[in-house]
Amino acid sequence: MNSFPPKEILCHAFNKTPYYRELFKRHNIDINSINSKEEYRKIPFLTKQIIQQEKHNLLESDYSDEESRKSLIIQRTSGSTGKILKTYWKKNDSIRSLYYLWNIRRRYNILPNDKLLSFHSAIYHKDKVIKPKLYMFNHGNHLSLCKMNLTDEIITQFHSEIEAFQPKWIMAQPSTVYLFSQFFKKNKLPVYDSLRYIELTGEYLSNSIRAEISDIFKVPISNQYGCMEANSIACECSKGQLHVMTKNVYIEIMNNEMPAEEGETGEIIISCLTNSVMPIIRYKIGDKGKLIHQHGCSCGNTNPIIELKTGRIGENIYIKGKAPISSFLFHYITENININYNNCILHFHVTQENDKDFTVRLVLTDDTPQLRQKVEELFRAEIIEQGLGSMKWIFMFCKDIVTNKISGKLQFFTNKYKETIE
Ligand SMILES: [Zn+2]
Repeated sequence: MNSFPPKEILCHAFNKTPYYRELFKRHNIDINSINSKEEYRKIPFLTKQIIQQEKHNLLESDYSDEESRKSLIIQRTSGSTGKILKTYWKKNDSIRSLYYLWNIRRRYNILPNDKLLSFHSAIYHKDKVIKPKLYMFNHGNHLSLCKMNLTDEIITQFHSEIEAFQPKWIMAQPSTVYLFSQFFKKNKLPVYDSLRYIELTGEYLSNSIRAEISDIFKVPISNQYGCMEANSIACECSKGQLHVMTKNVYIEIMNNEMPAEEGETGEIIISCLTNSVMPIIRYKIGDKGKLIHQHGCSCGNTNPIIELKTGRIGENIYIKGKAPISSFLFHYITENININYNNCILHFHVTQENDKDFTVRLVLTDDTPQLRQKVEELFRAEIIEQGLGSMKWIFMFCKDIVTNKISGKLQFFTNKYKETIE
């Protein structure tokens, strides 16, 4: 069981950061009285918006001037709002927060200086955004490639760079690795023989995408759940479960401001136990999931298991007279079909064209008229069950994945309607 974070973390936040000092005072929170999970829940949530607004007020006051911040590691991520979120770390805290993740990588014989291939959308150099196609870090041991607009032509160019680089491991979003796997498949090319391990992160990993990547690359794959604000949150064990890194984060699952029951889905709230310069306490990370404490996972790890119910997906479905619906719904639908029909959907993409028209594009493993008909039937039945039966749905079967040229992310949903109402 993970108990709530040690009191020193709260005392440190109160004593050292203007934001928390002000927050605790405003809400009459006496840190010394926080001795239970119930009292811990009195602390108001931290949100992405607060991180953006409060900026340096969230930092230890020793780092209030720019010069002192130069010694810190700055991690940036662009939230769904498109605004950049900056997180600061002391070097030693960052190492501590990643220690358990490195333990896992070591199991696959991956060490910090082993050649890593990763992907970026932009790179920050002295607070300026640069968008190089290729960037080298860690004295030439870390090659980062731009993941935007990964067309066949660009992948072909990158492929020769990667071959010359000889990565031992890849850390990337599932959708990016999937694009490369399709490139190998289509061109009947051998995969990189230097490759030993793939770590997937940053997006929800569906069973079908995982199976396809595994089939092509034939190296161990591990799924990692993390964020720039806390580094690692959970990592996959040999049995395929995401165990929470309890030495690095404390997780709560909340439902309408109330703690969720054991195994009940709710909003994921994290507190980081290792970042001292920028305390992250009760942070709404923006994902949904459930926490299972009593699991008896046969890998032997007794840390709670987290099951994600949403990925890092910002797009919603908009229906007149209804609250926005998470497009993650389409993941549920396709996974349901895949579980019962031998992972027949390889890839999918849904577009909301306007207030009532939707286009569903599907790539099937075995593209026969019978299977097309069956999948469409099942998809329609699920749509009706989800209360979207009154919308107009058009199905198209394609040979290829539809990629989003703008974000480079796994875009299984595009909302064209949103652009006209926002
Ligand atoms: Zn396990």
